[in-house]
Amino acid sequence: MKIRIDSYLPLTDVEGPGTRFCIWVQGCSIHCEGCANKHMWNPQEGTDFDVNEIVNLIEKYKDKIEGVTFLGGEPLEQIDAVSYISKEVQNMGLTVLVFTGYDYNEISAEEEIKELQKHIDILIDGKYEQDKRDFSRPWVGSSNQKYYFFSNKYNDDIIKSYKNKFEIRIDRHNKISVNGMGKFEELSDII
Ligand code: SF4
Repeated sequence: MKIRIDSYLPLTDVEGPGTRFCIWVQGCSIHCEGCANKHMWNPQEGTDFDVNEIVNLIEKYKDKIEGVTFLGGEPLEQIDAVSYISKEVQNMGLTVLVFTGYDYNEISAEEEIKELQKHIDILIDGKYEQDKRDFSRPWVGSSNQKYYFFSNKYNDDIIKSYKNKFEIRIDRHNKISVNGMGKFEELSDII
C-alpha cells in the first residue's frame, strides 16, 4: 500500500505533544479559505512512499520521539494508509495525533474512522475558518477545531500545558523552512 505525502520531518517539537515524527500528507479536497498549505491540495503532486518504508523510517527514530503526527493535506483522504502506519506506530509504544478538516461528528459512524480511532490517541477536527482565527490553543488555528481523545495518554489538561510555537530551519543550501502554528506574517520581520 502507498501513501502520497508532501514531506516529513523526523524530529519536531511544534506539531503535537513532545518530540514527534511529522508527516504532511499530500492532497486535500476541502479547500479552506486562508489555508496555509495550498501546495498540498493537489493529490497528483507530492511523492509516493510504500507505507512500510514510512514505518521503517519512524522505527529509526522511535527512541527519540513521543509519537507521530499526520497533517497535510488531508490525512483522512488516505485513511487506509494512515490507519496502517498508525497501527504500526502504536505497536512501537508511541502515540499518534491526526489532524482532519472534516467534522468528526459527521464521519464517526464510518467503518474506516472506527478502525483508525483504535490506533490513534488524538484527533483534531474541523476546517480552518478564517473568521474564527485563534492561536490560543496548541497546534490549531481556529476556534471551531476540536480535540478528541481515543486513549488515556492525553487529556484536556495535558493539552493546555502546550503553547503554539514555530521552528525555523536553515538547510545547507540556505533554504529556510518554517513549521508550527501562529501568526506566520509576523515572521517576515525576522526571516
Ligand atoms: S483541511 Fe487543512 S489542508 Fe485542507 S484546506 Fe483546510 S486547512 Fe488546508
